[in-house]
Amino acid sequence: MTAERGPLIALDPEACRRCWRCAHRCPARAVRVCADGSVAIIDEKCVRCGLCVTECPHGAWVVRSDGNVVDELLRGDRPVVALLATEFVAALYPLTPEAVEARLEAAGFFAVESTLLGEEAVAAAYEVRHAGGSGVPVIRSTCPVVNDWIRTYHPALTGALAPLVPPYIAQARLIREMYEEEVAIVYVSPCFARKDEARGDEFACDLDAVIDFLELESALSRNEAVSAHPTRPREHAGGRRPEPLKEISLTDGYPRSTFESRDMIAPDVRVARGLEELEAVLRAAESGESAPHILDALNCEGCLDGPAVNPGMPLFTKRHLAASDRCGRARSRVSSREILKHLPRIDLRRSFEAAPVRLERPTGDELREIMVEGGMDSAALDCGMCGLPSCEEFALSIFRGETTWRACLPRRSRVLSDELEELEETAMLDPLTGLANRRAFASRLGEECARHARYDGQLALLMVDIDHFKQVNDRFGHPAGDAVLNGVADILRETLRVIDLAVRYGGDEFAVILPQTSKTEAFAVAEKLRLEIEEAEVMWRVRPAAPLDFEVRVSVGVAALNGTTLSPDELLEAADRALYHAKQNGRNQVRLAPG
Ligand code: GH3
Ligand code: MG
Repeated sequence: MTAERGPLIALDPEACRRCWRCAHRCPARAVRVCADGSVAIIDEKCVRCGLCVTECPHGAWVVRSDGNVVDELLRGDRPVVALLATEFVAALYPLTPEAVEARLEAAGFFAVESTLLGEEAVAAAYEVRHAGGSGVPVIRSTCPVVNDWIRTYHPALTGALAPLVPPYIAQARLIREMYEEEVAIVYVSPCFARKDEARGDEFACDLDAVIDFLELESALSRNEAVSAHPTRPREHAGGRRPEPLKEISLTDGYPRSTFESRDMIAPDVRVARGLEELEAVLRAAESGESAPHILDALNCEGCLDGPAVNPGMPLFTKRHLAASDRCGRARSRVSSREILKHLPRIDLRRSFEAAPVRLERPTGDELREIMVEGGMDSAALDCGMCGLPSCEEFALSIFRGETTWRACLPRRSRVLSDELEELEETAMLDPLTGLANRRAFASRLGEECARHARYDGQLALLMVDIDHFKQVNDRFGHPAGDAVLNGVADILRETLRVIDLAVRYGGDEFAVILPQTSKTEAFAVAEKLRLEIEEAEVMWRVRPAAPLDFEVRVSVGVAALNGTTLSPDELLEAADRALYHAKQNGRNQVRLAPG
């Protein structure tokens, strides 16, 4: 097969909705949640089980396709054989096997083969290994996901993987031996992982392309390329060839006989379906708790359960379809053991190399530090919303860079509400002086006016403006101007009561709301403020070494609601007018609004 053509599984970022379901489901924790909330596959940890693809409700993970290679092959000189995994009856249902063959041949395939004899040949080779009983464990190696799991996470057990090719490779080798002409072979796989397995150097000459059943199904339902390619002479016209029954093999090249002589609790045999169960068995084996001689391990419940075999259909229905096909088909009278004897000899050997991934282990202190940072030290929630069983596991994932704090939803909600509170506070404050801002002023003045209208109390408003303030900026620079503004703000803060509200209204203008204060009382407060500012020369030093050669003075306009009902705007306007009069009248003074 041709060399690298990109990763097996890639993300379509447009389709990803960042729900992190893939990261939560990945048995290898190989889907990283990134700091920006996106997800990415950690290649060296991924065992290509395809769960991210099948679990994604948004179709965001895309499996690499060899579809265009198949098209090229069909246009080329060599006859092309479609090699279907035996699960094709259920995978392509409701197309009948006859219809599948007819469509493939109409699409330009020279012949259609199944992996049945390859399964039988491989199962026979397993029989020999299982009979050996040498004490060396034999782990089934027909599932590429299991092989990768062991090579990556239990590298010491790599040598126990049966050094036998998978059935589809055996079948491809049989085809190459049996066909007179040099053919191209396209394998149709029940899972995604085989697309990568078939690219291994060992199998470089065996297959020309691998597609999965989902791709074939959609191509056939589109009737793709049916007329685009010249129809070659058909290998098998007039109905299906009789095929032998699977006599030696159970699912995908594993020997029936191993279970005929043992029951499921025989101490020397373990069956593991799914990576979780496999992991438990391997750990027990490594700790010496259990030492099976034979381990039948698959990622799925057999290849009928593969991710590309009609994923919407319940497994029992697929089994029923496969069984019905087996009963209904014309069978060769010759047993497959007999057939194997007459088939060309093919090499069934293969080897495996360990590919250990380095999983960093934090010290106890490092782990605790992360837990403290996440607020998980004293009260670990273990809520599981991050997809991991405990806060400690989550902290471990943070340490290894597999996830980010974003994925801890309780912490995120805490941080967000703190930030929101802070934001709300700062939205009401003037950043320079720390006094309330105009927005806070409007809301408080509205409240106070409404209270006054209801309870007929007293309410006064001061508008305070620095005289000739522009000169401060012009003569001493903007920072000096800021220092003066801050100084005035400090005096307002120190002089006023808790119930009063001083705000920076804008520029060099301040406003003061004085609840429960009459007009004359307000005048007195204003006058006090004006004098405090006049006497506070020392305050205006920008730096201790540079006293300001400028007399800071303010003009103040005072308005009040004395039994009258004014709107907030009218009150403000009255105070503003009084301030204008103070300025007109020579500045550095307090003026009362009329009425
Ligand atoms: P008046 O006596 O009539 O009030 O004259 P004034 O110079 O005080 O008034 P004017 O409105 O002309 O000038 C106000 C100045 O305040 C203009 C603007 O550049 C300055 N200013 C506004 N905001 C800030 C600020 O945050 N820092 C500083 N340093 N200056 C500011
Ligand atoms: Mg001014």
